[in-house]
Amino acid sequence: MKSINPYTGETLKLYNPHSELQINEAITRAHDTYLEWRKTPFSEKSSLMNKAADILESKKDHYAKLISLEMGKMMKEAVAEIEKCAWVCRYYAEKAEGFLADTPLELPDDKKAKLKYNPLGVILAVMPWNFPFWQVFRFAAPNLMAGNTGLLKHASNVPQCALAIEEIFQEAGFPEGCFQSLLISSDKVKSILHHPHVKAATLTGSEKAGEIIASQAGEVLKKTVLELGGSDPFIVLADADVEKAAKTAAKARMINFGQSCIAAKRFIVHTDIYDSFVEIFKKEIENLKQGEQFDESADFCCMARPDLAAELYEQVNKSIEMGAKVILDGGRPEEGSALFRPYIISEITPEMPAYSEEMFGPVATIFEVNSEEEAIKIANDSPYGLGSSLWTSDMDKADTLAAQIESGAVFVNGLVASSPYLPFGGIKRSGYGRELAELGIKEFVNIKTVTFA
Ligand code: NDP
Repeated sequence: MKSINPYTGETLKLYNPHSELQINEAITRAHDTYLEWRKTPFSEKSSLMNKAADILESKKDHYAKLISLEMGKMMKEAVAEIEKCAWVCRYYAEKAEGFLADTPLELPDDKKAKLKYNPLGVILAVMPWNFPFWQVFRFAAPNLMAGNTGLLKHASNVPQCALAIEEIFQEAGFPEGCFQSLLISSDKVKSILHHPHVKAATLTGSEKAGEIIASQAGEVLKKTVLELGGSDPFIVLADADVEKAAKTAAKARMINFGQSCIAAKRFIVHTDIYDSFVEIFKKEIENLKQGEQFDESADFCCMARPDLAAELYEQVNKSIEMGAKVILDGGRPEEGSALFRPYIISEITPEMPAYSEEMFGPVATIFEVNSEEEAIKIANDSPYGLGSSLWTSDMDKADTLAAQIESGAVFVNGLVASSPYLPFGGIKRSGYGRELAELGIKEFVNIKTVTFA
């Protein structure tokens, strides 16, 4: 397995994938550890989780550098990612016991009953490269606190991050087997999922991977949580603060160089404010500077892999050939290079890839609409339903329209962002299940009814 710096193309490290024997040993270790770990008191688990947060904070530059080197994220964004991981560890260290406390149930007679939330066992996490620490910690923190153990199959282009995360849990003092990283290709996932000790799986990644993992898990009737792609609408109504909306829109599209499932991708703007929105939005993106990951004066670096840059260019180029209007021209990326420059396109029609496909990189599509109804109709005319952003100065209207938007979250007058405090997940082809907050920790527990006669 290769760790490659996508900005320079330099191979940083090579790893041998884990063998069948090593995989089976890891599963057994995860199961054996679970049998003890599930009985560990919350106070002990919390103290280990806080220790993991301490380690993340004390070595944040070291971990951030690994992220930047392996997938091209700007160092300053990578540092923020590590800080967020420490936050989610501390959040669940504090809250897990309360979230998983027994819930008394009301019965019609004087008998007693309650719900218990017991762990399931070994959970497989298949994770992507775009937030290589955050995506893993938002799975690991709640699940280890719930008493499960975790096996990570990370994206093949971030092996150094995968191993570093395993080391963090070891250094924090978690029992061996609580959290292990498997360096494996995706064709090994099915046999792991089918192993009797593995009880459930979570995937963050593409729809294609989601379909495969969900069907493989379905064959053995195991639960999955899927966090897949998104093509989030960013709706700006006529009564919105246009300047604030346009500046936030640029951030929302360019976060992580556009490689985020909850990045705003379709900008749906009322005709009354369309011209000023486009002018400010374009200027904000045009002014961003490209540079290497560690250049403090730069705003963005490159895509995570050359094939991702090529695929994105093909989507945008095809849409332009079909008649999309170019507002900002990013040019053609060099063959075999992960370097890419932002595009803004408009006059998008339903046959174009830019209308219905996810554009997983710095390409913004703008739609001009004449009414709120038209805005909602376009927002919902997508196979995806992850996040959405709605801009208006009328909060009653926002509340009414929020109910009509087909997505897992609506952020009014703000940028869609994940937080330990907010349940996160989608509908439609964006997946199912929720991560984070109380709902997130309850995805992989046995919600057990207990009655006392
Ligand atoms: P993938 O979905 O291929 O990768 C995500 C994870 O799934 C990786 O660990 C990958 O492993 C694994 N995986 C892929 N195929 C299978 C399979 N058949 N069985 C088991 N595991 C599998 O994403 P890509 O890296 O190829 O990115 C392509 C697109 O996916 C992006 O353009 C974007 O649309 C979407 N994506 C969405 C993300 C999100 O946050 N929702 C994050 C990343 C990508 P391996 O690396 O070894 O292939």
